[in-house]
Amino acid sequence: MVELSRIQHWIFDLDNTLYSGNANFFSQIDKKMTAYIGDYLKLDLPDARKIQKEYLAEYGTSLSGLMAVHGMDPAPFLDYVHDVDLSPLTPCPDLRGAISALPGQKYIFTNGSKKHAENVGSHLGIFDLFDGVYGIEDVDYVPKPKRSPYIKFCDTFDIDPAKAIMFEDSVRNLEVPKYMGMETVLVTSDEDWGHEPEATRPAGQHSKADWIDHFTPNLSNWLLTSS
Ligand SMILES: [Mg+2]
Repeated sequence: MVELSRIQHWIFDLDNTLYSGNANFFSQIDKKMTAYIGDYLKLDLPDARKIQKEYLAEYGTSLSGLMAVHGMDPAPFLDYVHDVDLSPLTPCPDLRGAISALPGQKYIFTNGSKKHAENVGSHLGIFDLFDGVYGIEDVDYVPKPKRSPYIKFCDTFDIDPAKAIMFEDSVRNLEVPKYMGMETVLVTSDEDWGHEPEATRPAGQHSKADWIDHFTPNLSNWLLTSS
């Protein structure tokens, strides 16, 4: 059992965290990003994909790099890449039960759009459980793992990091929260859906960084067996 009685704020990443990275869902978004970049920069798909992954590694998200380097308008990009088939995601009553039972406030904090969080959260049958949702547009398109979006998020919702816990599938997105004083949980998956650069890849069970307090392949089980 993990001792979590001090926790009053429960902060969840969305993609590959509130649903399993093994669900073969996010790969749709990943591929749509490649197609959009290819069209926008007039590149063939292999070159577009190279840029996509380089920007992800360097800027935190591919979108952030496209905005910084090419001055791209984020809204059409987000609308396009998040227009995906939700059917691979199965609503999970266990997850709903586990999140419902948590004391205090619950939040979604995603590098995707707020609308994407609402679409996915509603499809999973859990969206109504959250007290606040932060999308990339709420942080002026500055993504995790940069420090400023976490600061803005905590200021907005009046969160004391010492009483907060954050759940993520990205190792690097937990470094700042830990530094701020949060408890950190990495939700792991065996699926390398995006063929990511090593530094940005969703963690396998064996990835270990000293800013991660807990690992779990199953968010519902972890929440239900911690107190
Ligand atoms: Mg994620």
